[in-house]
Amino acid sequence: MILKDLPKHKGLRNQLVATIKAKGIKDEAVLDAIKKIPRHLFMDSSFIDFAYQDKPFPIAADQTISQPYTVAFQTELLKVKPNDKILEIGTGSGYQTAVLIELGAEVYSIERQKELFTLAKKFLPKVGYVPKKLAFGDGYLGMLDAAPFDGIIVTAGAPYVPKPLLSQLKIGGKLVIPVGEGAQVMTLFIRKGETKFEKHKLGDFRFVPMLKEKE
Ligand code: SAH
Repeated sequence: MILKDLPKHKGLRNQLVATIKAKGIKDEAVLDAIKKIPRHLFMDSSFIDFAYQDKPFPIAADQTISQPYTVAFQTELLKVKPNDKILEIGTGSGYQTAVLIELGAEVYSIERQKELFTLAKKFLPKVGYVPKKLAFGDGYLGMLDAAPFDGIIVTAGAPYVPKPLLSQLKIGGKLVIPVGEGAQVMTLFIRKGETKFEKHKLGDFRFVPMLKEKE
């Protein structure tokens, strides 16, 4: 793969940023990250012409790279500060991972498909995005040995809210998770105390399903 980022790509990214801004994304740091990251390099070359449309796209293993607006929406909810410890469930293409790293987060990410895990592990450092840890495993369990986290972001549709994800948040930490089968409601949990969580529902989305652990 030739890793090229050309002026035409930058131009297309500026347009993409204008599009997602018009759809309501306000966080300048998030918009800047999207302006910088060469999304076309995270996609199969056959789809390169579509990389800067505000749409999800197929990647390997029947998965998708999330729609930029959705990535921005979820990231905005996390309110990432530099050096925050963030756990991502569903590494996929690594694009969301890169957005979090661009914001200065220390990123831990779990992917359940071996093929995608292997690809992301090789690819991300090549484009200058080095996560703290990429793990091949089951996101329903979170990452106990690295917990607690300032934020956890789930990038697949969860049929229910896995308990370990709530318990691996710091007090004040946030879980952003699309919940539901078929379609999902974007849900934000803020941990207020040991057993106290604030819950906000933030609109309808459609994700590939979060898969149960392989039997
Ligand atoms: N963040 C990714 C989105 C990929 S789509 C991106 O920006 O490209 C959702 C991803 O979640 C897929 O890669 C899928 O394989 C992964 N996934 C699904 N169920 C999972 C689980 N139980 N644990 C970890 N990852 C999972």
